[in-house]
Amino acid sequence: MTAARLRAFGTTIFTEMSALAARTGAINLGQGFPDTDGPRELVAAAHSAMRSGANQYAPLAGVPELCLAIAEHQRRRYGLDVDPECGVQVTFGATEAIAAAMLGLLEPGDEVVVIEPFYDSYVAAAAIAGATPRFVTMHPPDFALDAGALAEAAAGDRVRMLVLNSPHNPTGRVLSRDELAAVARVCIDNDLVAVTDEVYEHLVFDGEHVPLARLDGMAERTLTISSAGKSFSFTGWKLGWCSGPPELVAAVRAAKQFMSFAGGTPLQHAVAGGLADAERHVAPLRAALQADRDRLCDGLRAIGFGVSVPAGTYFVNADLAPLGVADAREWCRELPSRAGVVAIPTSAFYERPEPAQTLVRFAFCKRPEVIEEAVERLGSAPWR
Ligand code: PMP
Ligand code: GLN
Repeated sequence: MTAARLRAFGTTIFTEMSALAARTGAINLGQGFPDTDGPRELVAAAHSAMRSGANQYAPLAGVPELCLAIAEHQRRRYGLDVDPECGVQVTFGATEAIAAAMLGLLEPGDEVVVIEPFYDSYVAAAAIAGATPRFVTMHPPDFALDAGALAEAAAGDRVRMLVLNSPHNPTGRVLSRDELAAVARVCIDNDLVAVTDEVYEHLVFDGEHVPLARLDGMAERTLTISSAGKSFSFTGWKLGWCSGPPELVAAVRAAKQFMSFAGGTPLQHAVAGGLADAERHVAPLRAALQADRDRLCDGLRAIGFGVSVPAGTYFVNADLAPLGVADAREWCRELPSRAGVVAIPTSAFYERPEPAQTLVRFAFCKRPEVIEEAVERLGSAPWR
């Protein structure tokens, strides 16, 4: 059953779109990864760890320096109390933490509240665990989280978990205090475990990221997930982690040890140093990203797309309706040949495409000249 469900997901839209970009030579504003390296200091630290022999398996939980740096980061930045030994698990990217959380915490037949649009791995990982998603839909243009719909999805004998992503991919939204409070309320009322995907925690331009674990009554039921990929522009390092109460982290560890055991040792050393001084490393990356966001939003708006400026992440969603285009999927399929650009239809992040038929997600984590060229190409392409 699991094999059949997995096969039914097919190839992810990100893989498909990056392959399309490679095949056609188009500018890839699809899959979200930066086209410049992260801090050289971290690369040097990884080299130095390799040269000094940090090349064998790491301890299962992660190298102690990194576990400590994660716990201290959570305390310093958010005032969260995390035990560096039993409250942290390093993983192969946030993706592995998400999958291990579902495998370690859910039984087949359990249900999971998933807010859509959603990052694709939540639903696939739930399927691997034999669990079923219950969707709560956020609708454009504001993508607000509806407290009533949330309460409805969270009520039910089999619901065990809620997955939250803020800053949010693909909308770029940073959830408000009221929305977080509504999420906390349903988790507490229904005795759910919250799994929060906070990989864009450092990439907020407007407003402030508040971890769900900070809300009253939530620290003891929340597993907080993050990753070095987005914070330091090293998506290919696939270095992620989760933190939270020891019993939740133990459940992740139980699954993770048989998924990949423990590796990436030199990278773990480098990220430990990076996290200890996170703001110094991230501030220039965030500032450049914000300028790229504005560059792309302004460019798209000038062409005639409907644009709502994202508060965080790598992504902006553009509405094709003002250009007279009704089907964003078809438009994205034709985009490489028409304009030499790749983008992703936002409907790919929904269970059913209806709420986002005319929306397209563009990634702006690219060099200024690449964004300018993409805007130039989009502006001179024939649309209808
Ligand atoms: N969660 C979200 C919301 C993402 O956008 C991504 C993609 N980077 C991930 C998780 C996966 O992160 P990682 O590459 O660290 O596995
Ligand atoms: N997080 C990236 C995005 O949303 C994709 C990562 C992946 O390919 N799984 O574009």
